[in-house]
Amino acid sequence: MAITVVGSVAFDTVETPAGRRERCLAGAATYFSLSASFFTDVRVIAVVGDDFGPEQQKVFDARKVDTTGIQHRPGKSFFWQGSYMENLNEAKTINTELNVFAGFEPSIPASYSDSEYLFLANIDPVLQRRVREAMPTAKLVGGDTMNYWIKDHKPALLEVLKGLDVLLINDTETRMLTGARSIALAAGKIFELGPKILVVKRGEYGATAFFAPKRPDGAERMAHRAFHVPALPLEEVVDPTGAGDSFAGGFFGYLASQKELTPKSFRYAMFYGSVMGSFVVERFGTDRLQELTREEIDHRFKLFRELTHLD
Ligand code: AMP
Repeated sequence: MAITVVGSVAFDTVETPAGRRERCLAGAATYFSLSASFFTDVRVIAVVGDDFGPEQQKVFDARKVDTTGIQHRPGKSFFWQGSYMENLNEAKTINTELNVFAGFEPSIPASYSDSEYLFLANIDPVLQRRVREAMPTAKLVGGDTMNYWIKDHKPALLEVLKGLDVLLINDTETRMLTGARSIALAAGKIFELGPKILVVKRGEYGATAFFAPKRPDGAERMAHRAFHVPALPLEEVVDPTGAGDSFAGGFFGYLASQKELTPKSFRYAMFYGSVMGSFVVERFGTDRLQELTREEIDHRFKLFRELTHLD
Protein backbone atom coordinates (compact mmCIF):
# COMPACT_ATOMS: atom_id res chain seq x y z
CA MET A 1 0.00 0.00 0.00
CA ALA A 2 1.27 3.45 -0.84
CA ILE A 3 2.12 6.30 1.53
CA THR A 4 1.91 9.96 0.64
CA VAL A 5 4.10 12.31 2.66
CA VAL A 6 4.04 16.10 2.74
CA GLY A 7 6.90 18.02 4.32
CA SER A 8 10.15 19.82 3.74
CA VAL A 9 12.65 18.86 1.07
CA ALA A 10 15.58 20.97 2.09
CA PHE A 11 19.25 21.73 2.24
CA ASP A 12 20.81 21.57 5.71
CA THR A 13 24.05 22.79 7.19
CA VAL A 14 24.81 20.86 10.36
CA GLU A 15 27.48 20.97 12.98
CA THR A 16 28.03 18.02 15.31
CA PRO A 17 30.96 16.90 17.50
CA ALA A 18 31.93 14.67 14.52
CA GLY A 19 32.27 17.58 12.08
CA ARG A 20 30.37 19.94 9.85
CA ARG A 21 28.47 19.43 6.60
CA GLU A 22 27.36 22.27 4.33
CA ARG A 23 24.10 22.28 2.40
CA CYS A 24 23.41 18.56 2.22
CA LEU A 25 20.14 17.24 0.80
CA ALA A 26 17.76 16.90 3.76
CA GLY A 27 14.31 17.88 5.00
CA ALA A 28 11.71 15.94 6.93
CA ALA A 29 9.95 14.56 3.81
CA THR A 30 13.28 13.46 2.32
CA TYR A 31 14.31 11.45 5.38
CA PHE A 32 10.81 10.03 5.75
CA SER A 33 10.47 8.93 2.13
CA LEU A 34 13.93 7.39 1.78
CA SER A 35 13.36 5.43 4.99
CA ALA A 36 9.81 4.28 4.15
CA SER A 37 10.87 3.31 0.61
CA PHE A 38 12.53 0.16 1.99
CA PHE A 39 9.07 -1.12 2.93
CA THR A 40 6.49 0.27 0.51
CA ASP A 41 5.71 2.74 -2.33
CA VAL A 42 6.21 6.36 -1.32
CA ARG A 43 4.86 9.55 -2.89
CA VAL A 44 6.11 13.01 -1.92
CA ILE A 45 4.42 16.42 -1.85
CA ALA A 46 6.82 19.34 -1.43
CA VAL A 47 8.33 22.35 -3.15
CA VAL A 48 11.95 22.91 -4.16
CA GLY A 49 13.93 25.74 -5.75
CA ASP A 50 16.37 25.76 -8.62
CA ASP A 51 19.19 24.56 -6.36
CA PHE A 52 17.45 21.15 -6.48
CA GLY A 53 18.88 19.57 -9.63
CA PRO A 54 19.51 16.17 -11.22
CA GLU A 55 21.93 15.20 -8.44
CA GLN A 56 19.21 15.54 -5.77
CA GLN A 57 16.53 14.00 -8.01
CA LYS A 58 18.75 10.94 -8.45
CA VAL A 59 18.61 10.27 -4.69
CA PHE A 60 14.80 9.91 -4.83
CA ASP A 61 14.88 7.99 -8.12
CA ALA A 62 17.39 5.48 -6.78
CA ARG A 63 14.84 4.53 -4.09
CA LYS A 64 11.93 4.65 -6.58
CA VAL A 65 10.21 7.42 -4.62
CA ASP A 66 7.43 9.08 -6.64
CA THR A 67 8.24 12.80 -6.90
CA THR A 68 5.37 13.84 -9.19
CA GLY A 69 4.09 15.98 -6.29
CA ILE A 70 7.34 17.95 -5.85
CA GLN A 71 6.80 21.40 -7.33
CA HIS A 72 9.76 23.27 -8.82
CA ARG A 73 9.78 27.04 -8.27
CA PRO A 74 12.27 29.80 -9.06
CA GLY A 75 14.35 30.65 -5.99
CA LYS A 76 16.06 28.64 -3.28
CA SER A 77 14.86 25.50 -1.50
CA PHE A 78 14.06 25.47 2.23
CA PHE A 79 17.28 25.85 4.20
CA TRP A 80 17.93 24.82 7.81
CA GLN A 81 21.07 25.19 9.87
CA GLY A 82 21.40 23.33 13.14
CA SER A 83 23.96 22.49 15.79
CA TYR A 84 24.26 19.51 18.11
CA MET A 85 27.41 20.74 19.86
CA GLU A 86 25.65 21.10 23.22
CA ASN A 87 23.23 18.19 23.07
CA LEU A 88 23.25 15.30 20.62
CA ASN A 89 19.63 14.50 21.46
CA GLU A 90 18.23 17.87 20.50
CA ALA A 91 19.08 20.19 17.64
CA LYS A 92 19.67 23.87 18.27
CA THR A 93 18.31 25.80 15.31
CA ILE A 94 20.82 28.42 14.11
CA ASN A 95 18.94 29.53 11.01
CA THR A 96 15.76 28.71 9.09
CA GLU A 97 15.11 30.12 5.62
CA LEU A 98 11.69 29.21 4.24
CA ASN A 99 12.57 30.40 0.72
CA VAL A 100 10.22 28.74 -1.83
CA PHE A 101 8.24 27.18 1.05
CA ALA A 102 6.95 30.64 1.94
CA GLY A 103 4.47 30.64 -0.96
CA PHE A 104 3.86 26.88 -1.08
CA GLU A 105 0.39 25.79 -2.19
CA PRO A 106 0.37 22.00 -1.92
CA SER A 107 -1.45 20.27 -4.73
CA ILE A 108 -2.06 16.55 -4.77
CA PRO A 109 -1.45 14.75 -8.06
CA ALA A 110 -4.42 12.60 -9.14
CA SER A 111 -2.13 9.56 -9.09
CA TYR A 112 -1.63 10.01 -5.32
CA SER A 113 -5.31 10.02 -4.39
CA ASP A 114 -5.56 6.28 -3.69
CA SER A 115 -2.80 6.41 -1.03
CA GLU A 116 -4.04 4.52 2.01
CA TYR A 117 -1.43 6.05 4.29
CA LEU A 118 -0.68 9.71 4.80
CA PHE A 119 2.13 11.29 6.78
CA LEU A 120 2.12 15.00 7.57
CA ALA A 121 5.80 15.61 8.28
CA ASN A 122 7.02 18.70 10.11
CA ILE A 123 5.75 21.73 8.19
CA ASP A 124 3.39 24.69 8.70
CA PRO A 125 0.22 23.19 10.27
CA VAL A 126 -1.94 25.21 7.88
CA LEU A 127 -0.39 23.24 5.01
CA GLN A 128 -0.64 19.94 6.91
CA ARG A 129 -4.36 20.52 7.36
CA ARG A 130 -4.90 21.40 3.72
CA VAL A 131 -3.30 18.13 2.59
CA ARG A 132 -5.23 16.15 5.22
CA GLU A 133 -8.52 17.61 3.99
CA ALA A 134 -7.63 16.87 0.38
CA MET A 135 -7.08 13.19 1.23
CA PRO A 136 -10.14 12.26 3.30
CA THR A 137 -10.05 8.55 2.43
CA ALA A 138 -6.62 7.79 3.92
CA LYS A 139 -6.82 4.76 6.21
CA LEU A 140 -4.13 5.82 8.67
CA VAL A 141 -2.86 9.37 9.10
CA GLY A 142 0.30 10.22 11.02
CA GLY A 143 1.88 13.54 11.80
CA ASP A 144 4.86 15.27 13.35
CA THR A 145 5.52 18.83 14.45
CA MET A 146 8.17 20.83 16.30
CA ASN A 147 8.65 23.41 19.07
CA TYR A 148 8.38 26.33 16.61
CA TRP A 149 4.80 25.43 15.58
CA ILE A 150 3.75 24.47 19.13
CA LYS A 151 4.91 27.82 20.49
CA ASP A 152 3.62 30.23 17.88
CA HIS A 153 1.01 28.39 15.79
CA LYS A 154 -0.90 26.35 18.35
CA PRO A 155 -4.50 26.99 17.17
CA ALA A 156 -3.62 25.77 13.64
CA LEU A 157 -1.79 22.81 15.11
CA LEU A 158 -4.79 21.82 17.25
CA GLU A 159 -6.87 21.69 14.06
CA VAL A 160 -4.32 19.30 12.51
CA LEU A 161 -4.39 17.04 15.58
CA LYS A 162 -8.14 16.51 15.14
CA GLY A 163 -7.42 14.71 11.84
CA LEU A 164 -4.54 12.51 13.05
CA ASP A 165 -4.56 8.85 14.08
CA VAL A 166 -0.91 8.80 15.17
CA LEU A 167 1.16 11.68 16.50
CA LEU A 168 4.95 11.20 16.57
CA ILE A 169 6.85 13.87 18.49
CA ASN A 170 9.84 14.07 20.80
CA ASP A 171 9.59 14.21 24.58
CA THR A 172 10.27 17.94 24.94
CA GLU A 173 7.56 18.67 22.36
CA THR A 174 5.17 16.33 24.17
CA ARG A 175 5.54 18.29 27.40
CA MET A 176 5.43 21.61 25.57
CA LEU A 177 2.23 20.72 23.74
CA THR A 178 0.36 19.46 26.80
CA GLY A 179 2.04 21.10 29.79
CA ALA A 180 1.97 17.64 31.44
CA ARG A 181 4.61 16.57 33.97
CA SER A 182 5.06 13.08 32.54
CA ILE A 183 4.68 11.62 29.07
CA ALA A 184 2.09 9.15 30.40
CA LEU A 185 -0.05 12.07 31.56
CA ALA A 186 0.62 13.86 28.27
CA ALA A 187 -0.67 10.82 26.36
CA GLY A 188 -4.09 11.12 28.03
CA LYS A 189 -4.26 14.79 27.09
CA ILE A 190 -3.25 14.11 23.50
CA PHE A 191 -5.94 11.44 23.11
CA GLU A 192 -8.50 14.14 23.92
CA LEU A 193 -7.16 16.23 21.01
CA GLY A 194 -7.63 13.58 18.28
CA PRO A 195 -4.79 11.05 17.92
CA LYS A 196 -5.40 7.50 19.16
CA ILE A 197 -1.72 6.66 19.31
CA LEU A 198 1.11 8.83 20.64
CA VAL A 199 4.70 7.89 19.81
CA VAL A 200 7.19 9.81 21.91
CA LYS A 201 10.68 9.83 20.37
CA ARG A 202 13.37 10.02 23.04
CA GLY A 203 16.66 10.20 21.13
CA GLU A 204 19.29 7.82 22.46
CA TYR A 205 16.75 6.41 24.95
CA GLY A 206 14.46 5.02 22.25
CA ALA A 207 10.75 5.66 21.83
CA THR A 208 7.55 4.95 23.75
CA ALA A 209 4.12 4.40 22.18
CA PHE A 210 0.89 4.98 24.07
CA PHE A 211 -2.34 3.47 22.76
CA ALA A 212 -5.65 5.11 23.69
CA PRO A 213 -7.79 2.97 25.97
CA LYS A 214 -10.62 1.28 24.10
CA ARG A 215 -13.21 2.04 26.74
CA PRO A 216 -14.37 5.65 26.72
CA ASP A 217 -14.35 5.79 30.53
CA GLY A 218 -10.59 5.24 30.42
CA ALA A 219 -10.94 2.47 33.01
CA GLU A 220 -7.98 0.61 31.59
CA ARG A 221 -4.77 2.03 33.02
CA MET A 222 -2.62 3.88 30.50
CA ALA A 223 0.57 2.15 31.60
CA HIS A 224 -0.90 -1.15 30.45
CA ARG A 225 -1.17 0.21 26.96
CA ALA A 226 2.35 1.53 26.58
CA PHE A 227 5.10 -0.10 24.54
CA HIS A 228 8.76 0.85 24.62
CA VAL A 229 11.54 0.27 22.11
CA PRO A 230 15.17 1.13 22.85
CA ALA A 231 17.55 2.90 20.53
CA LEU A 232 20.68 1.02 19.51
CA PRO A 233 23.55 1.99 21.82
CA LEU A 234 25.95 3.36 19.17
CA GLU A 235 29.54 4.31 20.00
CA GLU A 236 29.39 7.36 17.80
CA VAL A 237 26.43 9.36 16.53
CA VAL A 238 27.79 11.33 13.56
CA ASP A 239 24.67 13.39 12.76
CA PRO A 240 21.34 12.97 14.59
CA THR A 241 19.43 14.99 11.97
CA GLY A 242 16.60 13.04 10.43
CA ALA A 243 16.48 10.35 13.12
CA GLY A 244 12.87 11.28 13.96
CA ASP A 245 11.73 11.33 10.34
CA SER A 246 13.57 8.11 9.53
CA PHE A 247 11.92 6.53 12.58
CA ALA A 248 8.55 7.68 11.25
CA GLY A 249 9.41 6.33 7.78
CA GLY A 250 10.27 2.90 9.16
CA PHE A 251 7.19 2.92 11.41
CA PHE A 252 4.66 3.87 8.70
CA GLY A 253 6.50 2.06 5.91
CA TYR A 254 6.31 -1.19 7.85
CA LEU A 255 2.62 -0.69 8.71
CA ALA A 256 1.78 0.03 5.06
CA SER A 257 3.49 -3.22 4.05
CA GLN A 258 1.16 -5.25 6.29
CA LYS A 259 -2.17 -6.75 5.22
CA GLU A 260 -3.78 -6.01 8.55
CA LEU A 261 -3.13 -3.55 11.36
CA THR A 262 -3.00 -5.40 14.67
CA PRO A 263 -1.49 -4.49 18.06
CA LYS A 264 1.43 -6.74 17.08
CA SER A 265 2.06 -4.86 13.83
CA PHE A 266 2.26 -1.59 15.78
CA ARG A 267 4.86 -3.12 18.10
CA TYR A 268 6.89 -4.34 15.11
CA ALA A 269 6.52 -0.90 13.52
CA MET A 270 8.13 0.61 16.64
CA PHE A 271 11.12 -1.69 16.18
CA TYR A 272 11.47 -0.93 12.46
CA GLY A 273 11.25 2.78 13.31
CA SER A 274 14.10 2.47 15.77
CA VAL A 275 16.12 0.36 13.31
CA MET A 276 15.84 3.08 10.64
CA GLY A 277 16.71 5.83 13.13
CA SER A 278 19.81 3.89 14.17
CA PHE A 279 21.12 3.84 10.58
CA VAL A 280 20.61 7.46 9.57
CA VAL A 281 22.67 8.87 12.47
CA GLU A 282 25.76 6.87 11.47
CA ARG A 283 26.67 9.30 8.66
CA PHE A 284 25.93 12.92 7.74
CA GLY A 285 22.64 13.79 6.03
CA THR A 286 21.01 11.05 3.99
CA ASP A 287 24.35 9.34 3.15
CA ARG A 288 23.62 6.20 5.15
CA LEU A 289 20.06 5.82 3.80
CA GLN A 290 21.37 6.14 0.25
CA GLU A 291 23.66 3.13 0.57
CA LEU A 292 21.49 1.03 2.86
CA THR A 293 20.18 -2.42 1.86
CA ARG A 294 17.17 -4.41 2.98
CA GLU A 295 19.54 -7.15 4.22
CA GLU A 296 21.19 -4.69 6.60
CA ILE A 297 17.75 -3.67 7.90
CA ASP A 298 16.78 -7.30 8.55
CA HIS A 299 20.09 -7.96 10.25
CA ARG A 300 19.73 -4.97 12.54
CA PHE A 301 16.15 -5.92 13.36
CA LYS A 302 17.56 -9.21 14.72
CA LEU A 303 20.08 -7.23 16.76
CA PHE A 304 17.22 -5.24 18.31
CA ARG A 305 15.47 -8.48 19.22
CA GLU A 306 18.60 -9.70 20.99
CA LEU A 307 18.94 -6.37 22.76
CA THR A 308 15.51 -6.72 24.32
CA HIS A 309 14.97 -10.47 24.63
CA LEU A 310 14.79 -11.73 28.18
CA ASP A 311 15.19 -15.52 27.83
P1 AMP B 1 14.42 15.56 12.52
O1 AMP B 1 14.03 14.19 12.02
O2 AMP B 1 13.51 16.05 13.57
O3 AMP B 1 15.89 15.61 12.89
O4 AMP B 1 14.21 16.57 11.28
C1 AMP B 1 15.26 17.16 10.58
C2 AMP B 1 14.83 17.87 9.32
O5 AMP B 1 13.77 18.80 9.56
C3 AMP B 1 15.99 18.68 8.74
O6 AMP B 1 16.52 18.03 7.61
C4 AMP B 1 15.40 20.05 8.41
O7 AMP B 1 15.64 20.44 7.08
C5 AMP B 1 13.91 19.92 8.70
N1 AMP B 1 13.36 21.11 9.38
C6 AMP B 1 13.92 21.84 10.38
N2 AMP B 1 13.10 22.86 10.75
C7 AMP B 1 11.98 22.78 9.97
C8 AMP B 1 10.75 23.53 9.84
N3 AMP B 1 10.51 24.61 10.61
N4 AMP B 1 9.84 23.13 8.94
C9 AMP B 1 10.07 22.05 8.16
N5 AMP B 1 11.20 21.31 8.21
C10 AMP B 1 12.16 21.65 9.10
